[in-house]
Amino acid sequence: MQSTYDLIVIGTGPAGEKAAVKAAYFGHKVAIIERHTVFGGAEVVTGTLPSKTLKETALYFSGKNEKGVFGIERSLHHKATLEDFMYRKNYVTESVAEEIKENLIRHGVDIFMGTATFEDEYTLSITSPSAPTQKITGKNIIIATGSYPYHPANIPFDGIKVHDSDSILHIHWLPKSLCIVGAGVIGCEYATIFATMGTKVYLIHDKQTILPQIDQELARSLIVLMQEEGVEILFNTSVEKIEVPKDQEAPLQIRLQNGQEIKADMYLFAAGRSGNTKALGCDKIGLKMAKRETLAVDEQYRTNIPHIFAVGDVIGFPSLASTSMDQGRVAVAHIFQTQDLQHLPSHFPYGIYTIPEISMVGQTEEEMIASKIPYCCGRSRYADMARGKIMGAQSGFMKIIFRKGDLKICGVHIIGHIATEIIHFGLELVESEQTLYDVIGKVFNFPTLHDLYKYAAYDGLSNLTGHKIKP
Ligand SMILES: Cc1cc2nc3c(=O)[nH]c(=O)nc-3n(C[C@H](O)[C@H](O)[C@H](O)COP(=O)(O)OP(=O)(O)OC[C@H]3O[C@@H](n4cnc5c(N)ncnc54)[C@H](O)[C@@H]3O)c2cc1C
Repeated sequence: MQSTYDLIVIGTGPAGEKAAVKAAYFGHKVAIIERHTVFGGAEVVTGTLPSKTLKETALYFSGKNEKGVFGIERSLHHKATLEDFMYRKNYVTESVAEEIKENLIRHGVDIFMGTATFEDEYTLSITSPSAPTQKITGKNIIIATGSYPYHPANIPFDGIKVHDSDSILHIHWLPKSLCIVGAGVIGCEYATIFATMGTKVYLIHDKQTILPQIDQELARSLIVLMQEEGVEILFNTSVEKIEVPKDQEAPLQIRLQNGQEIKADMYLFAAGRSGNTKALGCDKIGLKMAKRETLAVDEQYRTNIPHIFAVGDVIGFPSLASTSMDQGRVAVAHIFQTQDLQHLPSHFPYGIYTIPEISMVGQTEEEMIASKIPYCCGRSRYADMARGKIMGAQSGFMKIIFRKGDLKICGVHIIGHIATEIIHFGLELVESEQTLYDVIGKVFNFPTLHDLYKYAAYDGLSNLTGHKIKP
């Protein structure tokens, strides 16, 4: 007999896992379907955690990180092998994937392995090469199938020398040179990781600037730091043709639209992702699509079919693990009227795990200019803070943007060590509309990098009044 559930979730990435577990926690009968043998989606298998672990590993081997946390004897300090580079990534992926599975089992969620496809609005078939096809029905369905890397037709992806952001995690040797296309978050993160590992990196971008969504003062600072690390950034051009030589030892020949030729051991295309909707058979039930194969939803994450919801990367922006988790929880709140989480907060931080990290919350200076709100900025440098001096910080700064009239803080932007951690106080400042004086009035542990906030606030007051304030 066909099993019926209160909720069926498709996908065990951050959006699906958190939705399934929350619904089960509130006492509902829940099933989850996963087509990959490893749980956790892009967060665990192909994206967030693997790339962040590689970043820490690269820092470790470059000697820029003294934590010694990796289970590899640091005193041996040898030239890193690929096995060294991948060791921690594999460990993190395996252990977090296992925790996700255990979490689902602990909450009594029924797990089905295979690819989910709609039979009708309530029924899903689950197909897998190793088991007979099953069918289950759900009173409610959440689609959390994530996204996949876009493959332009002129790029000969082979998973050996020519990679996307999934296959780069399975390389068999550490390239001496790497050509990356796309200076968005993924492209910039991998550019700094490989450059730190000693690879010669070419970063190709079809625009004049990198990371268009962040405050451009920080983007310019990252460009300088990347160039100092040996990353060659080629702006305003793209790849015309790649020739993959028959000889495995020979480099790829990459011809750019500006006529330049690059020879590189490896190629990574990191520009754009599309929604994972093909296998679902959305047109069969009339699900409304949006651009790049994503699903259209309302503010409750409900599709045009009222009992079917969609969350996470499959609905597009902002496509973050952090927001995907809460979108899953919000969808469950609306399905089962749990009244605990009606929507995501209006402000959330962005973390970019380049070396050094970048993190921001609220408005950029470019947005302030466009909105015509009179504003002013304050800055503080890691190297001027007592904790920064202890750490030997040579670069990195914080920028606070505030309104001239009432001194309310509209944006906090950080480039530097653990920026993605320090930003959360900035999130609080922006969300609760605090002023420069609120920051100045706080006592922080000393010495800590949170001093950056106080000194940026004092600098902001100085810039506003024209009087240098010596805090
Ligand atoms: C290189 C990289 C780095 C990133 N870094 C960060 C970061 O630092 N911070 C951050 O917040 N975000 C980061 N992200 C983004 C983050 O990984 C995604 O936003 C997040 O994983 C999306 O979660 P999701 O649950 O929507 O989808 P996914 O994590 O993609 O999970 C979808 C799941 O659905 C399964 N599935 C798909 N179709 C079907 C089907 N028909 N039937 C059954 N199962 C199916 C898939 O196998 C997968 O397990 C990064 C992404 C990449 C690629």
